[in-house]
Amino acid sequence: MTLNEQKFKQLYRLTEKFHSFMNKDDVLSELVTTLQSMFFEYNFYLFLSHDHENHLDLPIKDLGFDHQDGNEMAMEAFVTGNAQRSFDKKNRQMIVYIPLKGKQGVYGVLQVVANHGLQLEDENVNFVAMLANAAGTALENAQLYEQSKRLIKDLQLINETSHRLNKNLRLTDTMTYMSLRILNSFKADEVGFFYINQNGSIQIFPGSTNFFNTEEVMIYIQYVREKIEKDLEGLFIGDITTYLKDLPYSSVMAVPMVQSENLKGCALVLHKDPYHFSFDMFKLLQSLIHHSTLALTNSLLREELETLVKTDHLTQLFSRNYFNDFIGSSMQKDRQGTFVLIDIDNFKKVNDTYGHQVGDEVLVQVANIIKSNIRENDVGARWGGEELAVYLPQVELASGISVAERIVKRVRENTNPMITISCGVSYWNAEIDKNFHQLFSKADKALYIAKNEGKNQVIVQV
Ligand code: GH3
Ligand code: MG
Ligand code: MG
Repeated sequence: MTLNEQKFKQLYRLTEKFHSFMNKDDVLSELVTTLQSMFFEYNFYLFLSHDHENHLDLPIKDLGFDHQDGNEMAMEAFVTGNAQRSFDKKNRQMIVYIPLKGKQGVYGVLQVVANHGLQLEDENVNFVAMLANAAGTALENAQLYEQSKRLIKDLQLINETSHRLNKNLRLTDTMTYMSLRILNSFKADEVGFFYINQNGSIQIFPGSTNFFNTEEVMIYIQYVREKIEKDLEGLFIGDITTYLKDLPYSSVMAVPMVQSENLKGCALVLHKDPYHFSFDMFKLLQSLIHHSTLALTNSLLREELETLVKTDHLTQLFSRNYFNDFIGSSMQKDRQGTFVLIDIDNFKKVNDTYGHQVGDEVLVQVANIIKSNIRENDVGARWGGEELAVYLPQVELASGISVAERIVKRVRENTNPMITISCGVSYWNAEIDKNFHQLFSKADKALYIAKNEGKNQVIVQV
């Protein structure tokens, strides 16, 4: 066999092999090892764009990285798709840059460096170029394969999320779920959602990460809001600290929630490192938000309506707003009052064991027990989620406590599936305190103690 025949055999073998690879790294590694074993007198390097994840032990250089030798020529080969030759005078080395080209684009550049003083024979260069071409096509295939796999994963994420959203859960639960999915999928540091109220003020959605409770987040929100209000387009910023100094997170993705061409709010995703997110992630975030906006605004609207309405639709107890107003006016006109804050024990377990539906039914059972154990002047309310509350105007502490104890006992005896509750009781009169917030926070503290000391009981704080 002539040398030529041998080479073409090698080319044929390699092309076959390339086509069996589904992974870009395998293609690159096979290309370099084959070339290196065929041409001892040359050295081979790969110029790849810096978003290439390099898990390999390959001679990879960053394309577009200014301080790298030969970068300009490599860039030229990458952009034009044509091979470039150069001569390194200092080291007396001939160099050629060959693009790794597929049908749709260039995937990198192969740099071939002849050893000191040696020629780069045309015949060899042509042969290397043929291998590089085969590798380019294989890289393209592998990339398309990876893309389609990612696309499927993205679709799954969108699909699961919209399913979840359509289940009509509480806004907090929904948003917490969304945040977690985004945190995981994008390896983000912070995820938050803000809503722009009718009067233009900003409201942070529940479920946002802690950074969204800080003052600093407003710098991001203001910046983003100004931009998106103009054109309702998303923002993809590699390093915001080039515009705004001294910020903790550099990478920013912001996607507006738009409904009937009106800006409702925005999702904001942050990472400490600059250029952390890829453009693909941004596109995924866009479709995720696009698919969720309707469900989110519906769920928000529902909760906004609930606060306007006097009764809670599930339990038929009073709504928290009405309840607060009631206590406020009682503090104006009455001499004393007792406040009972109620939280169902281990309610998560009820939901997990029997499902949300049964959880709701249990909540209704507790509400009914409360209603049948208080008098006409007293008010029972849905405090929020699975927390309920009772206010007894003009009732002294001792009587208030016995009402709470009766409710705890009845709940334990009359619920199915059987559950228990814990109560925190507080009290006010003219001498003690006439402060709304004090009354709540004492009951809250009492409830906390009741939970810590074994639940299923009443604790008092005055
Ligand atoms: P603990 O005894 O400490 O109170 O434990 P817990 O499991 O009750 O924990 P926690 O009070 O923190 O959690 C309450 C859970 O109740 C979380 C939430 O999913 C669920 N929940 C809140 N509101 C509702 C609701 O309206 N219906 C149902 N089914 N579940 C709710
Ligand atoms: Mg609770
Ligand atoms: Mg609870």
